[in-house]
Order: sequence, then structure tokens, then C-alpha cells
Amino acid sequence: MEPVRLGLVGIGKIARDQHLPAIAGNERFALTATASRHGRVDGVTGYDNIAEMAAACPLDAVSLCTPPDGRYQQALAAIEAGLHVMLEKPPAVTLSHVEALIEAARAANVTLFATWHSREAAGVGPARAWLADKHIEAVRIDWKEDIRRWHPGQEWILGPGGFGVFDPGINALSIATSILPHELFVESATMDVPEGRASPLAASLQMRSGSAEVRAEFDFLQTGPQTWSIEVDTDHGTLRLTQGGSVIQRPGENERTEPDLEYARLYERFAHLVAERAIDVDLRPLRLVADAFLIADRRVVEPFAF
Ligand code: NAP
Repeated sequence: MEPVRLGLVGIGKIARDQHLPAIAGNERFALTATASRHGRVDGVTGYDNIAEMAAACPLDAVSLCTPPDGRYQQALAAIEAGLHVMLEKPPAVTLSHVEALIEAARAANVTLFATWHSREAAGVGPARAWLADKHIEAVRIDWKEDIRRWHPGQEWILGPGGFGVFDPGINALSIATSILPHELFVESATMDVPEGRASPLAASLQMRSGSAEVRAEFDFLQTGPQTWSIEVDTDHGTLRLTQGGSVIQRPGENERTEPDLEYARLYERFAHLVAERAIDVDLRPLRLVADAFLIADRRVVEPFAF
């Protein structure tokens, strides 16, 4: 079978850290071109934008690694050019845009894959399996990282549609919606938005899943140890997912750490979806973020500079 000719769009941190190695490691894909205003990849033909790339270069699919604001227009252009599309998280800035993309992909009979890379972390599948027949009593989510360390100079992240601390926080919500047996609802929230910025640096969410209270603390100003953990109290003890879901500890067991295969798994799945011309879009993490923005008590806090 001929490999899928892939265009990679938005050559920034995640494209270089994760997408390029995952594509190179999957023989179902041939990296054929890139589209980015400044970023280039050695040995690969680069274009300034997706329209120029699609017009000049025979492709089957694109993978979008740009910031979420603008991704709808890029994805729509690709779908209308008959290309299969893989989206970094969050899939777009609004729910309406993602729903419109689903309709457009259906009409064009191409694949649309909204990825949630944290769901591919090694502990997530085992956590879902273990929790499936347990009574969930309470859930604590702590997603606390240093914006200056992980997102240096990424001004867009605190702009409109940048998601702020929900950029990492939505990863926790993607895991929670995947492992908890009942639907999650936001009941109340607070957000700290720095003066002069549009998106929050910190947020607290009170949620419910079945009869269980689910509390989430998102913080972008965490120096020292970085925390990406979910603890689930059940009638059979507490399950812990740490390090973004890559480490799992079930009650009475030692921690288990497996190799990081998140992006390898995403491209494997994309290859399957392309072969079937299938659509895989789960809106639940984005819907929870949208609900939090609707319901939150927003507090203006002191200005922030990178
Ligand atoms: P980034 O380093 O800022 O890279 C994004 C690239 O997109 C930029 O280098 C830029 O390249 C291009 N771009 C196009 N339009 C842009 C605009 N209006 N503003 C800024 N850049 C624009 O961001 P990233 O960390 O790779 O994140 C990109 C996406 O991946 C986000 O949705 C993020 O949530 C997701 N993600 C990031 C990480 C992570 O650890 N960083 C992990 C998982 C997922 P040109 O200037 O060449 O156009």
C-alpha cells in the first residue's frame, strides 16, 4: 500500500518535539511538505501556508500543529481540498467550529481526527478498565505547571482563544472524560485572568460525575515540582494517575511506568481512520472547557509577562 502523503502545518514546539519523530517512525506516512510562516524542516519542501501547499503539492492528508485560533479555517481549507485532517488539541476555539468541520468532512468523505494525546498515555487505558466496575466516591485533578518553562514566549496562549491554563488543563479533562464511567458536568468555576490578557492563568472547577464530586485545580504558575495528577477514590481504594497519565498506581500495587508512545499511537490511529475515511471527534473535553468559561467567576489578577 502506498504511504499517506502528509503535509505538516505549524512548525513549532509540538511539531518538532513529537510529530516529526512519530511520523518518521510510521511507515504508513511520508512527510511530503510543510506549511508554516517561518518554520521549516530540513529536507522537506516548505510553504508559507496551507493553501499554497495544497495547490502546489500532491498530498493525501494534513496534520495541524498550529495554535487553536485559526485552526478551523486551516482545517476547512484542507477538507475542501479533499485532504484528510488530523487536529492537535484543542480541535478549535469554539464548539460550533468543530461541529461545522465534522459536517464538512462528512460531505467531502474525508477523515477528521481530533486528537487527545493525553488519552494515549500508558496509564489511561488500564485506569479506564479498572474503574469500569467500581463505585467512584471522589476525584481530585491537579494540573500545575510553569508556563515560562513549557510555553516560553507563547503569547497566543493568554490571548483570546488561547485557552490559557486550559491549554494543558484540557488534557486532564480529556483523561477524566475517558476513564470515569459517568458523564462529567461543571457545577461552578473560578478563573484568574491577568490584567490586560484574555485567558486565565489559573482555574478551579467543581464538577460532578454520577454521585462523585470532581475537583480540578489548574495552575500555570507552578515552579518547583510540576504536577499532572488525577486521584480517584473508589469503594475499592484510590487509583492514582501521575505524570500526565503515564504512571498508574492501583490500590495495593506499586507504580507502573511504561514508555511514552502517545504520538506514535495517534499516528497509528490516524492511518486506520484514513484507510476507512472515518471521523473520530470527541467534543466532551472542549465542551467542559466551554461550560467552565460560561459559568466561571472571573477574577482579574496582576499583569503577567513571560
Ligand atoms: P508553538 O510552539 O507556538 O507552535 C505553533 C506554530 O504554529 C508556530 O511556531 C507558528 O509557526 C505557527 N502559527 C500559525 N499561526 C500562528 C499564530 N497565529 N500564532 C502563533 N503561531 C502560529 O505552539 P505549540 O506548543 O507547538 O502548540 C501548538 C498546538 O499544539 C497547541 O494547540 C497546543 O495545545 C498543542 N500541544 C502543545 C504541546 C506542547 O507541549 N507545547 C503538547 C501537546 C499539544 P510559524 O510562525 O512558522 O507560522
